[in-house]
Amino acid sequence: MLKLHNVRAGYGDVNVLDDVSLEVDEGEIVTIVGGNGAGKTTTLRTISGLIEPTAGEISFEGQPIGGLASHQIVDLGITLIPEARQLFPEMTVRENLLMGAYRKGAQAGQSARLDDVVGMFPRIGERLAQRAESLSGGEQQMVAIARGMMARPRLLMFDEPSLGLAPIIVSQVFEVIEQISRAGVTVLIVEQNVYQTLKTANRGYVLDNGRVTMADAAERLLENDHVRQAYLGI
Ligand code: ATP
Repeated sequence: MLKLHNVRAGYGDVNVLDDVSLEVDEGEIVTIVGGNGAGKTTTLRTISGLIEPTAGEISFEGQPIGGLASHQIVDLGITLIPEARQLFPEMTVRENLLMGAYRKGAQAGQSARLDDVVGMFPRIGERLAQRAESLSGGEQQMVAIARGMMARPRLLMFDEPSLGLAPIIVSQVFEVIEQISRAGVTVLIVEQNVYQTLKTANRGYVLDNGRVTMADAAERLLENDHVRQAYLGI
């Protein structure tokens, strides 16, 4: 579904990604794990069209998407849920959710879509009229995920969905990700919470200093000595 082949990208003169190649097949949950500054966020921003790759190819369902504008990439069915949620704090939960459906294609049947999405997140339904800033961190993450679902994505990408959340809330977030996957949405997650994300994913890539250093089934990565030492502290 999504393929990156030898992608290079960075910020101005600073190159961050070095020949990154990876694939996500339809229906999979794939994760990119790695430490601080490894280039995980940069990878998602490049796929989303927020950063233009300087070399390599990115394709989605066989169509090259490298260099397309981010709104065109959203229209193709790829949505990014950014790190730290990035909600509109003074807007209500309902208004935040509707911002997720601002693209033309998604606007048709917006209120029916809102009902569907709220059905997946019952606690959000009780808080539609509240300002986003009044919610707990876990609730805000659920709103950010729900907002992403408003765009009817076929590939949903998560940037550190567990960031800053208590362990019990982290489990709930990963349960929601599994639920979204069961609903037929393909998932790509980047995380520093390596254990939880490998438990959830089918396959994983380890990104180290802008390079993919390992790629394997998630359960095999969990048993890998290097992963256990470097990322799980075992
Ligand atoms: P973290 O988990 O800490 O967010 P990450 O793996 O997501 O790490 P990136 O955010 O992709 O890493 O950052 C990779 C490198 O790119 C870092 O060295 C960072 O300093 C650099 N970088 C990130 N954003 C910018 C920017 N806007 N301008 C210049 N350099 C940047």
